[in-house]
Amino acid sequence: MIGKQSSRVKPQEKIAARVASAVTANLLSLSLSETHKTITIDEYIVKIHPISTQSRTPSRKFVAFDLDGTLITTKSGHTFSRGPNDWTWLNDKVVPSLQSITLPIVIFTNQGAVIAQKTSKSLSNFTKKCKLILDAMKEAGIDVSNVWIYASPKMGKTYKGKNEAEFTKMRKPEIGMFEHLLKDGVLEDVIKEECVYVGDAAGRATDFSDSDKKFAQNCDIPFKTPEEYFV
Ligand SMILES: [Mg+2]
Repeated sequence: MIGKQSSRVKPQEKIAARVASAVTANLLSLSLSETHKTITIDEYIVKIHPISTQSRTPSRKFVAFDLDGTLITTKSGHTFSRGPNDWTWLNDKVVPSLQSITLPIVIFTNQGAVIAQKTSKSLSNFTKKCKLILDAMKEAGIDVSNVWIYASPKMGKTYKGKNEAEFTKMRKPEIGMFEHLLKDGVLEDVIKEECVYVGDAAGRATDFSDSDKKFAQNCDIPFKTPEEYFV
């Protein structure tokens, strides 16, 4: 009986252990390719980041894009991608335009069908697609070591984390993904008026939403539609 009692963990120690495991458990880092890794934080954000950033000086400017309907579209013609291979560049102006950029290229994408759990099919499909896009960029001579992807996934029904509010904050037009970019060492003393965010959800008559335009406004960054930017 005495032995049993002495081996018992004190409540404070239990709490400390739980906090420690929450801190370590909620960050997932997976290798994606030779150049990039996938990082998820407590299932509410997915970052696909260059592995090696040490030699790079933070930039004062960046060029940012939405992904679907802006840089790429589906090859199948369906509204939503049918798999990692179901994508093609939006048009033939996208690659030359990306080739001409010498600043960090950032992608901010809402991925409302992705659940950012280690074993989820939707996460692996999405990251595989990103890898293929990065591979295609690299093949076209684009410096992928300066390409940064931020994705806002949906909260899984079984989500047990403590950051439910973060899911909303990450979703454009909210600026959570931009705030992560600012913290990630890519940028310093940003000259916002000389940056640009390009997106197809601009609130035009045929647009499904204005979340890209609002996102740019909320970040205080100039906004362009793909039609205005890719000329
Ligand atoms: Mg879009």
